[in-house]
Amino acid sequence: MKTLNDFNFAAKKAIIRVDFNVPLDENFKVTDTTRIDAAKPTIDKILADGGSVILMSHLGRPKGAEEKYSLKHIVATVSEILGVPVKFATNCVGAEAKDAAAHLKAGEVLLLENLRFHAEEEAGDVDFAKELASLGDIYVNDAFGTAHRAHASTTIIAQFFPDAKCFGTLLAKEIESLNKVLKDSEKPVTAVLGGSKVSSKITVIENILDKVDHMIIGGGMTFTFIKAQGGQIGESICEDDKLDLALEILRKAKEKGVQIHIPVDVVAADDFSNSANTQVVAVTAIPDGWQGLDAGPKSLENFRKVILQSKTILWNGPLGVFEMETFAKGTISLGDDIAEATANGAFSLVGGGDSVAAVKQFGFEDKMSYVSTGGGAMLEMLEGKVLPGIAAILD
Ligand code: AMP
Repeated sequence: MKTLNDFNFAAKKAIIRVDFNVPLDENFKVTDTTRIDAAKPTIDKILADGGSVILMSHLGRPKGAEEKYSLKHIVATVSEILGVPVKFATNCVGAEAKDAAAHLKAGEVLLLENLRFHAEEEAGDVDFAKELASLGDIYVNDAFGTAHRAHASTTIIAQFFPDAKCFGTLLAKEIESLNKVLKDSEKPVTAVLGGSKVSSKITVIENILDKVDHMIIGGGMTFTFIKAQGGQIGESICEDDKLDLALEILRKAKEKGVQIHIPVDVVAADDFSNSANTQVVAVTAIPDGWQGLDAGPKSLENFRKVILQSKTILWNGPLGVFEMETFAKGTISLGDDIAEATANGAFSLVGGGDSVAAVKQFGFEDKMSYVSTGGGAMLEMLEGKVLPGIAAILD
């Protein structure tokens, strides 16, 4: 696996695919700089070597060159974070970009306009990728958020740098963290899978059954498993067409010696609302008219025991409807337990789907070993897929 440290960037132009798809407010000010901050170590290393940097990214989902999606809005913020002036090319290909790239001196940074102003980017167009490639000497992919897409700048471009391509610091860290959980993990390994639906997590569950010792299944998925085993789930969310699949997962887990932990009690509500009436009931005896929206205290106690004896923990998905305060306790309690296990030396990875939102909201970010930056990309890695953007560098 080639990383930045395999190259000396002195007098070289690095063309870096970054993920600067940042949120902007109505005045086009960047409201969350996490993704720009995350790319800084890669850029710093190249500049410190005496190289120059060409940054390319997408922003939003523009239909053609829509001004509101212009990356010009973020130039000042990128400059500020990097601590160097950043030049801007109003088109990522064509004469202006070529000229700006050609005149780039050591220590300088050039940001190219939104790649998705050209349909060729998402189409993975080879000629477009070749034109982008012509701007730099070494290709660096540091955009984990788009590594599961075979776009021109994330994948196709790599073929034009057979001996001069590598992962940036961020992308290398993502791969390393996932390997720490699924490949070179210290046992016992526990995966916590929450969220709303079995259907969106089934491939993840199947893929990691071979790699974990314990699996905690929570969130809305709980009720498909409980109903499949004959429990009464009231009005709780359930996928009736996945009942057989749930039983199949339980059977496979048993066969592989994986211990499955499902809530034994839940916080049930008489309405899907923060101000609903609530009661704690057994997960197998939820009254009609009530729905389980969070894990109950006995379940949380059980989960805590499992988490605290784990050496490796993967967390994907909340244990309840954490967006509503009334049903956030389970997710917070689990986060506290994982934080404690991490402080005691366990390795914890949070990622995939929306899990990161919960972790940020409750301030767990700095208490986990690693919080993934790519929702969809991490989910696909957990499903065991080879991401095209990663494969293109390894090729
Ligand atoms: P996912 O994107 O699959 O990780 O799902 C996250 C969503 O699952 C969150 O928006 C939660 O509100 C939702 N969720 C968690 N537990 C439940 C539950 N018991 N009933 C309904 N939705 C839930």
